[in-house]
Amino acid sequence: MADVTLRNVCKVYEGGNTAVKDVNFEIKDREFVVLVGPSGCGKSTTLRMIAGLEEISTGELFIDGKKVNDVSPKDRDIAMVFQNYALYPHMTVYENMAFGLKLRKFPKEEIAMRVNEAAKILNLEEYLQRKPKALSGGQRQRVAVGRAIVRKPKVFLFDEPLSNLDAKLRVQMRTEISRLHQRLEATMVYVTHDQVEAMTMGDKIVVMKDGIVQQIDAPLNLYNFPANKFVAGFIGSPAMNFIKGQLSAEGELKFKTNGAELELILPDSYIEKLGSRRGKELWLGLRPEDITETVPAGAEKNFSKFETVLEVIEPMGNEIFLYFTVEGIQFTSRIASRTKPSLNVKTALYLDHTKCHFFSTDTEETLL
Ligand code: ADP
Repeated sequence: MADVTLRNVCKVYEGGNTAVKDVNFEIKDREFVVLVGPSGCGKSTTLRMIAGLEEISTGELFIDGKKVNDVSPKDRDIAMVFQNYALYPHMTVYENMAFGLKLRKFPKEEIAMRVNEAAKILNLEEYLQRKPKALSGGQRQRVAVGRAIVRKPKVFLFDEPLSNLDAKLRVQMRTEISRLHQRLEATMVYVTHDQVEAMTMGDKIVVMKDGIVQQIDAPLNLYNFPANKFVAGFIGSPAMNFIKGQLSAEGELKFKTNGAELELILPDSYIEKLGSRRGKELWLGLRPEDITETVPAGAEKNFSKFETVLEVIEPMGNEIFLYFTVEGIQFTSRIASRTKPSLNVKTALYLDHTKCHFFSTDTEETLL
Protein backbone atom coordinates (compact mmCIF):
# COMPACT_ATOMS: atom_id res chain seq x y z
CA MET A 1 0.00 0.00 0.00
CA ALA A 2 1.00 3.61 -0.30
CA ASP A 3 0.83 7.23 0.72
CA VAL A 4 -0.19 10.08 -1.56
CA THR A 5 0.96 13.71 -1.32
CA LEU A 6 -0.35 16.73 -3.18
CA ARG A 7 1.89 19.79 -3.11
CA ASN A 8 0.61 23.17 -4.40
CA VAL A 9 -1.57 21.39 -6.95
CA CYS A 10 -3.57 23.61 -9.32
CA LYS A 11 -5.83 22.79 -12.23
CA VAL A 12 -6.69 25.34 -14.88
CA TYR A 13 -8.96 23.91 -17.57
CA GLU A 14 -8.72 25.02 -21.16
CA GLY A 15 -10.54 28.31 -21.42
CA GLY A 16 -9.00 29.52 -18.17
CA ASN A 17 -11.38 28.01 -15.61
CA THR A 18 -9.37 27.42 -12.43
CA ALA A 19 -10.99 24.35 -10.86
CA VAL A 20 -8.41 23.57 -8.14
CA LYS A 21 -6.28 26.19 -6.40
CA ASP A 22 -3.07 25.41 -4.58
CA VAL A 23 -4.19 22.21 -2.90
CA ASN A 24 -1.90 20.63 -0.31
CA PHE A 25 -2.59 17.48 1.65
CA GLU A 26 -1.13 14.15 2.54
CA ILE A 27 -2.88 10.79 2.56
CA LYS A 28 -1.06 8.36 4.78
CA ASP A 29 -0.62 4.67 4.05
CA ARG A 30 -3.89 2.82 4.83
CA GLU A 31 -5.76 6.02 5.54
CA PHE A 32 -9.35 6.62 4.37
CA VAL A 33 -9.53 10.22 3.21
CA VAL A 34 -12.75 11.84 2.03
CA LEU A 35 -12.86 14.89 -0.24
CA VAL A 36 -16.16 16.66 0.38
CA GLY A 37 -17.79 19.88 -0.74
CA PRO A 38 -20.67 21.24 -2.80
CA SER A 39 -21.01 20.49 -6.49
CA GLY A 40 -18.33 22.20 -8.59
CA CYS A 41 -15.86 22.69 -5.72
CA GLY A 42 -13.13 20.73 -7.52
CA LYS A 43 -13.18 17.42 -5.67
CA SER A 44 -13.58 15.19 -8.75
CA THR A 45 -10.90 17.15 -10.58
CA THR A 46 -8.55 16.57 -7.62
CA LEU A 47 -9.32 12.83 -7.61
CA ARG A 48 -8.89 12.61 -11.38
CA MET A 49 -5.50 14.29 -11.11
CA ILE A 50 -4.45 11.66 -8.55
CA ALA A 51 -5.69 8.98 -10.99
CA GLY A 52 -3.83 10.57 -13.88
CA LEU A 53 -7.02 11.10 -15.87
CA GLU A 54 -6.52 14.85 -15.71
CA GLU A 55 -3.25 16.66 -16.18
CA ILE A 56 -1.90 18.68 -13.23
CA SER A 57 -1.45 22.31 -14.37
CA THR A 58 1.08 23.22 -11.67
CA GLY A 59 2.25 21.54 -8.47
CA GLU A 60 3.45 18.06 -7.63
CA LEU A 61 1.83 14.72 -6.93
CA PHE A 62 3.70 11.94 -5.14
CA ILE A 63 2.62 8.32 -4.70
CA ASP A 64 4.82 6.38 -2.31
CA GLY A 65 7.39 9.17 -2.38
CA LYS A 66 7.73 9.08 -6.15
CA LYS A 67 6.70 12.06 -8.26
CA VAL A 68 4.07 10.81 -10.68
CA ASN A 69 2.92 13.97 -12.52
CA ASP A 70 4.06 12.47 -15.80
CA VAL A 71 3.34 8.80 -15.07
CA SER A 72 0.43 7.41 -17.11
CA PRO A 73 -2.71 6.22 -15.23
CA LYS A 74 -2.03 2.55 -15.91
CA ASP A 75 1.42 2.79 -14.37
CA ARG A 76 0.31 4.56 -11.18
CA ASP A 77 -0.92 1.38 -9.51
CA ILE A 78 -4.27 2.86 -8.54
CA ALA A 79 -7.82 1.66 -9.16
CA MET A 80 -10.83 3.92 -9.50
CA VAL A 81 -14.49 3.16 -8.85
CA PHE A 82 -16.86 5.47 -10.73
CA GLN A 83 -20.33 6.77 -9.97
CA ASN A 84 -21.82 5.05 -13.04
CA TYR A 85 -19.91 1.77 -12.32
CA ALA A 86 -18.67 1.62 -15.96
CA LEU A 87 -19.33 -2.14 -16.27
CA TYR A 88 -19.20 -3.86 -19.67
CA PRO A 89 -22.82 -4.88 -20.37
CA HIS A 90 -21.97 -7.84 -22.65
CA MET A 91 -19.62 -9.44 -20.09
CA THR A 92 -20.55 -11.55 -17.08
CA VAL A 93 -19.68 -10.43 -13.57
CA TYR A 94 -16.69 -12.78 -13.65
CA GLU A 95 -15.47 -11.39 -16.99
CA ASN A 96 -15.98 -7.81 -15.81
CA MET A 97 -13.84 -8.42 -12.76
CA ALA A 98 -11.23 -10.40 -14.69
CA PHE A 99 -10.93 -7.94 -17.58
CA GLY A 100 -8.22 -5.66 -16.19
CA LEU A 101 -6.06 -8.62 -15.16
CA LYS A 102 -6.49 -10.24 -18.59
CA LEU A 103 -5.32 -7.05 -20.25
CA ARG A 104 -2.26 -7.12 -18.04
CA LYS A 105 -1.65 -10.74 -19.13
CA PHE A 106 -2.06 -12.35 -15.71
CA PRO A 107 -2.08 -16.18 -15.78
CA LYS A 108 -5.57 -17.74 -15.86
CA GLU A 109 -5.21 -19.41 -12.47
CA GLU A 110 -4.10 -16.21 -10.79
CA ILE A 111 -7.08 -14.38 -12.32
CA ALA A 112 -9.49 -17.08 -11.12
CA MET A 113 -8.04 -16.96 -7.64
CA ARG A 114 -8.28 -13.18 -7.36
CA VAL A 115 -11.79 -12.93 -8.82
CA ASN A 116 -13.10 -15.69 -6.58
CA GLU A 117 -11.51 -14.10 -3.54
CA ALA A 118 -13.03 -10.69 -4.36
CA ALA A 119 -16.42 -12.31 -5.07
CA LYS A 120 -16.29 -13.91 -1.63
CA ILE A 121 -15.43 -10.66 0.12
CA LEU A 122 -18.25 -8.86 -1.72
CA ASN A 123 -20.89 -11.62 -1.50
CA LEU A 124 -21.00 -11.94 -5.28
CA GLU A 125 -20.16 -15.64 -5.58
CA GLU A 126 -23.60 -16.69 -6.80
CA TYR A 127 -23.76 -13.92 -9.42
CA LEU A 128 -20.46 -14.53 -11.21
CA GLN A 129 -22.13 -15.84 -14.38
CA ARG A 130 -24.77 -13.09 -14.59
CA LYS A 131 -24.63 -10.06 -16.86
CA PRO A 132 -24.80 -6.60 -15.21
CA LYS A 133 -28.38 -5.99 -16.40
CA ALA A 134 -29.55 -8.90 -14.26
CA LEU A 135 -28.14 -7.30 -11.10
CA SER A 136 -29.52 -4.76 -8.65
CA GLY A 137 -27.88 -1.34 -8.31
CA GLY A 138 -26.09 -2.41 -5.14
CA GLN A 139 -24.77 -5.59 -6.76
CA ARG A 140 -23.50 -3.65 -9.76
CA GLN A 141 -21.73 -1.29 -7.40
CA ARG A 142 -20.10 -4.28 -5.70
CA VAL A 143 -18.89 -5.60 -9.07
CA ALA A 144 -17.33 -2.22 -9.78
CA VAL A 145 -15.59 -2.39 -6.40
CA GLY A 146 -14.59 -6.02 -7.10
CA ARG A 147 -12.94 -4.97 -10.32
CA ALA A 148 -10.80 -2.57 -8.32
CA ILE A 149 -9.99 -5.12 -5.58
CA VAL A 150 -8.67 -7.83 -7.95
CA ARG A 151 -6.00 -5.43 -9.15
CA LYS A 152 -4.60 -5.15 -5.60
CA PRO A 153 -3.72 -1.52 -6.26
CA LYS A 154 -1.64 0.73 -4.04
CA VAL A 155 -4.48 3.23 -3.81
CA PHE A 156 -8.25 2.99 -4.29
CA LEU A 157 -10.06 6.04 -5.62
CA PHE A 158 -13.86 6.37 -5.34
CA ASP A 159 -15.76 9.08 -7.23
CA GLU A 160 -19.24 9.46 -5.67
CA PRO A 161 -19.73 5.68 -5.91
CA LEU A 162 -23.02 5.61 -4.02
CA SER A 163 -24.94 8.50 -5.56
CA ASN A 164 -26.94 6.29 -7.93
CA LEU A 165 -28.30 4.13 -5.12
CA ASP A 166 -31.45 4.70 -3.08
CA ALA A 167 -31.08 6.06 0.45
CA LYS A 168 -31.28 2.72 2.27
CA LEU A 169 -28.82 0.96 0.00
CA ARG A 170 -26.48 3.90 0.27
CA VAL A 171 -26.29 3.46 4.03
CA GLN A 172 -25.67 -0.27 3.60
CA MET A 173 -22.93 0.20 0.98
CA ARG A 174 -21.37 2.88 3.15
CA THR A 175 -20.75 0.38 5.90
CA GLU A 176 -19.62 -2.24 3.35
CA ILE A 177 -16.96 0.09 1.99
CA SER A 178 -15.83 1.00 5.52
CA ARG A 179 -15.55 -2.70 6.35
CA LEU A 180 -13.67 -3.32 3.13
CA HIS A 181 -11.23 -0.60 4.06
CA GLN A 182 -10.52 -2.30 7.37
CA ARG A 183 -10.20 -5.70 5.75
CA LEU A 184 -7.93 -4.68 2.88
CA GLU A 185 -5.95 -2.20 4.98
CA ALA A 186 -5.79 -0.09 1.84
CA THR A 187 -5.20 3.57 1.17
CA MET A 188 -8.50 4.98 -0.04
CA VAL A 189 -9.55 8.38 -1.36
CA TYR A 190 -13.27 8.94 -1.57
CA VAL A 191 -15.13 11.85 -3.17
CA THR A 192 -18.66 12.80 -2.12
CA HIS A 193 -20.88 15.87 -1.81
CA ASP A 194 -22.67 14.18 1.10
CA GLN A 195 -21.37 15.36 4.45
CA VAL A 196 -22.93 12.38 6.27
CA GLU A 197 -20.94 9.97 4.08
CA ALA A 198 -17.84 12.01 4.74
CA MET A 199 -18.37 12.11 8.50
CA THR A 200 -19.14 8.40 8.83
CA MET A 201 -16.47 7.00 6.51
CA GLY A 202 -13.41 9.21 6.66
CA ASP A 203 -10.42 8.93 8.99
CA LYS A 204 -9.66 12.38 7.68
CA ILE A 205 -11.84 14.79 5.72
CA VAL A 206 -10.73 17.45 3.25
CA VAL A 207 -13.46 20.10 2.91
CA MET A 208 -13.30 22.07 -0.35
CA LYS A 209 -15.09 25.14 -1.72
CA ASP A 210 -14.45 26.97 -4.99
CA GLY A 211 -11.33 24.87 -5.66
CA ILE A 212 -9.78 25.80 -2.31
CA VAL A 213 -9.24 23.52 0.69
CA GLN A 214 -11.12 24.97 3.67
CA GLN A 215 -10.09 22.55 6.40
CA ILE A 216 -8.46 19.13 6.78
CA ASP A 217 -9.33 17.30 9.96
CA ALA A 218 -10.80 14.24 11.66
CA PRO A 219 -14.63 14.15 11.44
CA LEU A 220 -15.39 15.21 15.02
CA ASN A 221 -12.81 17.97 14.95
CA LEU A 222 -14.53 19.40 11.88
CA TYR A 223 -17.83 19.28 13.70
CA ASN A 224 -16.61 20.71 16.99
CA PHE A 225 -13.93 23.11 15.78
CA PRO A 226 -14.85 24.33 12.29
CA ALA A 227 -12.19 26.66 10.91
CA ASN A 228 -14.66 28.97 9.20
CA LYS A 229 -18.35 29.68 8.70
CA PHE A 230 -18.52 27.64 5.50
CA VAL A 231 -17.26 24.44 7.18
CA ALA A 232 -19.49 25.12 10.20
CA GLY A 233 -22.56 25.36 7.97
CA PHE A 234 -21.63 22.52 5.63
CA ILE A 235 -20.87 19.85 8.25
CA GLY A 236 -23.84 18.82 10.40
CA SER A 237 -27.53 18.31 9.67
CA PRO A 238 -29.71 20.22 10.41
CA ALA A 239 -27.16 22.93 9.75
CA MET A 240 -25.69 25.29 12.31
CA ASN A 241 -27.72 28.47 12.97
CA PHE A 242 -25.97 31.76 12.23
CA ILE A 243 -26.85 35.27 13.26
CA LYS A 244 -24.97 38.55 13.23
CA GLY A 245 -24.64 40.62 16.38
CA GLN A 246 -22.27 42.58 18.57
CA LEU A 247 -20.23 42.07 21.66
CA SER A 248 -20.77 44.43 24.59
CA ALA A 249 -18.16 47.18 24.62
CA GLU A 250 -17.56 46.86 28.37
CA GLY A 251 -18.70 45.10 31.54
CA GLU A 252 -19.90 41.51 31.28
CA LEU A 253 -19.06 39.90 27.94
CA LYS A 254 -22.40 39.75 26.16
CA PHE A 255 -23.45 38.93 22.63
CA LYS A 256 -26.51 40.82 21.43
CA THR A 257 -28.15 40.52 18.01
CA ASN A 258 -28.54 43.78 16.09
CA GLY A 259 -32.24 44.08 16.95
CA ALA A 260 -31.57 42.85 20.52
CA GLU A 261 -33.99 39.94 20.07
CA LEU A 262 -31.42 37.54 21.39
CA GLU A 263 -28.86 38.17 24.12
CA LEU A 264 -26.29 35.85 25.61
CA ILE A 265 -24.08 36.44 28.61
CA LEU A 266 -20.87 34.69 27.68
CA PRO A 267 -18.74 32.86 30.22
CA ASP A 268 -15.30 34.26 31.07
CA SER A 269 -13.69 31.48 29.05
CA TYR A 270 -14.45 33.47 25.87
CA ILE A 271 -12.73 36.66 27.05
CA GLU A 272 -9.24 35.60 26.02
CA LYS A 273 -10.28 34.94 22.40
CA LEU A 274 -13.02 37.56 21.99
CA GLY A 275 -11.84 40.38 24.28
CA SER A 276 -10.27 42.29 21.41
CA ARG A 277 -13.56 42.16 19.48
CA ARG A 278 -15.61 44.03 22.07
CA GLY A 279 -18.01 46.50 20.51
CA LYS A 280 -17.56 44.91 17.11
CA GLU A 281 -19.85 42.94 14.84
CA LEU A 282 -19.42 39.17 14.45
CA TRP A 283 -21.31 36.01 13.51
CA LEU A 284 -22.67 33.75 16.23
CA GLY A 285 -23.07 30.08 15.27
CA LEU A 286 -25.14 27.68 17.37
CA ARG A 287 -25.76 24.03 16.53
CA PRO A 288 -29.44 22.96 16.70
CA GLU A 289 -28.73 20.55 19.58
CA ASP A 290 -27.33 23.43 21.65
CA ILE A 291 -30.76 25.11 21.72
CA THR A 292 -32.92 23.04 24.04
CA GLU A 293 -36.31 23.08 25.76
CA THR A 294 -35.02 21.94 29.12
CA VAL A 295 -31.80 22.47 30.99
CA PRO A 296 -29.96 19.48 32.45
CA ALA A 297 -30.01 19.67 36.26
CA GLY A 298 -26.86 21.29 37.61
CA ALA A 299 -25.97 22.93 34.27
CA GLU A 300 -28.24 26.00 34.66
CA LYS A 301 -25.31 28.41 34.65
CA ASN A 302 -24.35 27.30 31.11
CA PHE A 303 -27.66 28.32 29.57
CA SER A 304 -29.36 31.57 28.58
CA LYS A 305 -33.14 31.65 28.39
CA PHE A 306 -34.76 32.85 25.21
CA GLU A 307 -38.48 33.19 24.42
CA THR A 308 -39.88 32.59 20.97
CA VAL A 309 -42.91 31.26 19.11
CA LEU A 310 -42.43 27.93 17.35
CA GLU A 311 -43.52 28.04 13.72
CA VAL A 312 -42.96 24.45 12.65
CA ILE A 313 -42.52 21.25 14.68
CA GLU A 314 -41.12 18.20 12.91
CA PRO A 315 -41.29 14.94 14.87
CA MET A 316 -38.50 12.67 13.59
CA GLY A 317 -39.26 9.74 15.90
CA ASN A 318 -36.14 9.75 18.05
CA GLU A 319 -35.97 13.55 18.16
CA ILE A 320 -37.92 16.66 17.24
CA PHE A 321 -36.84 19.58 15.06
CA LEU A 322 -38.25 22.98 16.06
CA TYR A 323 -38.24 25.95 13.68
CA PHE A 324 -38.58 29.56 14.78
CA THR A 325 -37.44 32.98 13.61
CA VAL A 326 -34.91 35.34 15.19
CA GLU A 327 -34.76 38.75 13.53
CA GLY A 328 -36.10 37.37 10.30
CA ILE A 329 -33.66 34.44 10.19
CA GLN A 330 -34.93 30.87 10.51
CA PHE A 331 -33.45 28.97 13.42
CA THR A 332 -33.56 25.24 14.05
CA SER A 333 -33.46 23.46 17.38
CA ARG A 334 -33.19 19.73 17.84
CA ILE A 335 -34.62 18.31 21.05
CA ALA A 336 -35.39 14.93 22.59
CA SER A 337 -38.75 13.48 21.55
CA ARG A 338 -39.95 13.03 25.14
CA THR A 339 -40.84 16.74 25.30
CA LYS A 340 -44.15 17.97 23.86
CA PRO A 341 -43.68 21.41 22.32
CA SER A 342 -46.67 23.50 21.16
CA LEU A 343 -47.07 25.67 18.08
CA ASN A 344 -47.87 29.37 18.06
CA VAL A 345 -47.47 30.02 21.79
CA LYS A 346 -44.60 31.68 23.59
CA THR A 347 -42.07 28.96 24.34
CA ALA A 348 -38.92 29.20 26.43
CA LEU A 349 -35.79 27.78 24.84
CA TYR A 350 -32.33 27.62 26.37
CA LEU A 351 -29.12 28.42 24.53
CA ASP A 352 -25.99 26.65 25.69
CA HIS A 353 -23.57 29.54 25.78
CA THR A 354 -20.59 27.26 26.37
CA LYS A 355 -21.16 25.82 22.85
CA CYS A 356 -21.16 29.05 20.86
CA HIS A 357 -19.09 29.46 17.72
CA PHE A 358 -18.00 32.92 16.60
CA PHE A 359 -16.82 33.94 13.14
CA SER A 360 -15.42 37.16 11.73
CA THR A 361 -17.89 39.05 9.54
CA ASP A 362 -14.97 40.06 7.28
CA THR A 363 -13.04 36.83 6.73
CA GLU A 364 -15.62 34.33 8.07
CA GLU A 365 -12.73 32.60 9.89
CA THR A 366 -13.35 31.27 13.38
CA LEU A 367 -12.53 33.65 16.22
CA LEU A 368 -12.16 30.85 18.78
P1 ADP B 1 -16.99 18.58 -8.16
O1 ADP B 1 -16.45 17.22 -8.37
O2 ADP B 1 -16.62 19.14 -6.82
O3 ADP B 1 -18.45 18.70 -8.43
P2 ADP B 1 -15.41 19.26 -10.48
O4 ADP B 1 -14.03 18.91 -10.08
O5 ADP B 1 -16.13 18.29 -11.35
O6 ADP B 1 -16.28 19.58 -9.19
O7 ADP B 1 -15.41 20.67 -11.20
C1 ADP B 1 -14.75 21.79 -10.67
C2 ADP B 1 -14.92 22.98 -11.61
O8 ADP B 1 -14.25 22.72 -12.83
C3 ADP B 1 -16.36 23.28 -11.96
O9 ADP B 1 -16.50 24.66 -12.06
C4 ADP B 1 -16.52 22.61 -13.32
O10 ADP B 1 -17.49 23.27 -14.07
C5 ADP B 1 -15.15 22.77 -13.91
N1 ADP B 1 -14.80 21.68 -14.86
C6 ADP B 1 -14.86 20.37 -14.63
N2 ADP B 1 -14.45 19.66 -15.72
C7 ADP B 1 -14.14 20.60 -16.66
C8 ADP B 1 -13.62 20.52 -18.01
N3 ADP B 1 -13.36 19.35 -18.60
N4 ADP B 1 -13.41 21.70 -18.66
C9 ADP B 1 -13.65 22.89 -18.08
N5 ADP B 1 -14.11 23.03 -16.81
C10 ADP B 1 -14.36 21.90 -16.11
